[in-house]
Amino acid sequence: MKEKADTLGRIVRIAGPVVGVVGLQNARLHDVVYVGELRLVGEVIRLAGEVATIQVYEETSGVRLGEPVSTAGGPLSVRLGPGLLGQVYDGLQRPLTLLAEQAGAFMPRGVLAPPLDTERKWSFSPALLAGETVVTGDILGSVPESAHLDHRILVPPGVRGRLIEIGQGEFSVQEPIAAIESAGGIRSITMAHSWPVRHPRPVRERRSPKEVLVTGTRVIDAFFPLARGGAAIIPGGFGTGKTVLQHALSRWAEVDVVVYVGCGERGNEMAEVLEDFPRLEDLRTGLPLMDRTVLIANTSNMPVAAREASIYTGMTIAEYYRDMGYDVLLLADSTSRWGEALREISGRLEEMPGEEGYPAYLGTRIAEFYERAGRVTPLGAAGGPRSGSVTVVGAVSPPGGDFSEPMTQSSMRAAGTFWALDYDLSRRRHFPAINWIQSYTLYKFDGTTPDSPEAWEALTKEAMIVLRRESELLEIVQLVGPDALSEAERAVLFTARMIREDFLQQSAFHPVDRFCSLEKARWMLRTILEIHRLIQRAVEADIPLERLAARPIMAEVARMKERSVEEVRALAGRVPENMEGVRV
Ligand code: ADP
Ligand code: MG
Repeated sequence: MKEKADTLGRIVRIAGPVVGVVGLQNARLHDVVYVGELRLVGEVIRLAGEVATIQVYEETSGVRLGEPVSTAGGPLSVRLGPGLLGQVYDGLQRPLTLLAEQAGAFMPRGVLAPPLDTERKWSFSPALLAGETVVTGDILGSVPESAHLDHRILVPPGVRGRLIEIGQGEFSVQEPIAAIESAGGIRSITMAHSWPVRHPRPVRERRSPKEVLVTGTRVIDAFFPLARGGAAIIPGGFGTGKTVLQHALSRWAEVDVVVYVGCGERGNEMAEVLEDFPRLEDLRTGLPLMDRTVLIANTSNMPVAAREASIYTGMTIAEYYRDMGYDVLLLADSTSRWGEALREISGRLEEMPGEEGYPAYLGTRIAEFYERAGRVTPLGAAGGPRSGSVTVVGAVSPPGGDFSEPMTQSSMRAAGTFWALDYDLSRRRHFPAINWIQSYTLYKFDGTTPDSPEAWEALTKEAMIVLRRESELLEIVQLVGPDALSEAERAVLFTARMIREDFLQQSAFHPVDRFCSLEKARWMLRTILEIHRLIQRAVEADIPLERLAARPIMAEVARMKERSVEEVRALAGRVPENMEGVRV
């Protein structure tokens, strides 16, 4: 890009990632700029009189006053097209090589390689014929981006008219595949375009999320299901299992594409992700999981401001696949790092601080972000309406696990599902440490599908009653000791423990247990509740709990997790005969 002399500014102030510049004419709010001799990437975050204030996404050490600043001529944008899947990017969509990351090497500063491979050829199959009238979002054709996914090439934003030419065969993302004629002239279309990350991509219609997104994690699917196109948060103190749960979701959730934005709370966490992901297989297809995944990694040498950009970069890529008609899961670990970036920048700008030093607009920013989740009808008329979704799951790391802090509170207001990770549960190695009393889901699900929570309702209600009763009884035991309990109450403690240990607990690392189908989960819960009912009745008929608890079937229940769905179903069928003699 040629820079005109009049767009050059000079640095007059440097405060960490925030730089003051004068003489930057033509710059608009949110424009990208190149800062200093190193051409560090930054963004205009305030314009006041002569001075443009820049948030720099890279380490500013070594940058000196008086160095030049130029504008890139537009807002922070990502490049969208075939070749995103399988990539590892930083928050500015610069490709990071696995090698650089594993060696722990520092990324060089300044502008790097293009985000999409410009050489690689893709095999384009047209879906329309020349002569047709097209609008933004229409599917022009597709390329096989991976064995998982056909990358649909859409009429790019802002374009409509008559399709006067359309190709077929091998093209790179830079070569024209079609030409569209409108009153404004003829426009040649390539398979890639840019989109400003802070602007939600437009859709035809937003629909309320009411389908369950199966995750394979029992406590979630049974009690606090995630909605396709909904938003969930995972607040939890250090070590409570946020990252393990996000990884489980990225592996097993039933979606077409996963975008994982990692900030890395621990030093080498991102390196582990980059090492792990490429080795994993998709359970359903046996294909490499990376083929449906885009990783956005904030490297340890990038300053806080880059974290702020990375969640928008991730969101925009997620919306792009949604617009093709796919279901996308966006995971952000941890959004607290983003909040800290906002706080730091706000402090540097000397803005009036809100609660705990966070800017007053923290809640608005968080709400705007989560509002980009959704189940939508994308733009486009050709081929009939499609359906796509972006489901967002954000981890939150409140200091000291205190959920009353601003990041958790604002995120809670913005998201419909709340999976509260509990320090005590994690300390007792009850994983996932989702607290069943504090957690909730606000989505109203469509009752007509077999996956819907309606099919679960009677079971989960009954299980929840047992768990709540257990909490009450444990309080009594705390106060007056176990002798205060009746035999029937002790029986409640017995089955509550089965629900906790044999159903809610799930190892993310066990080869079978790490993923649980809805069907298996349902048979598991049915088995436990049937035993619960039989025991309650038996105890009423004066059969001692000890004798019931010693039945061999209890050991089988304890191993259900590691069994196949068929085995669990067979076990459920054997409950009555194995409890023979307790039926009254
Ligand atoms: P956080 O991200 O909240 O700091 P992690 O996700 O790194 O915590 O989890 C900390 C540890 O807890 C893990 O290393 C693992 O040993 C254990 N853990 C968490 N979730 C599970 C799970 N579902 N199954 C087994 N172990 C788990
Ligand atoms: Mg973590």
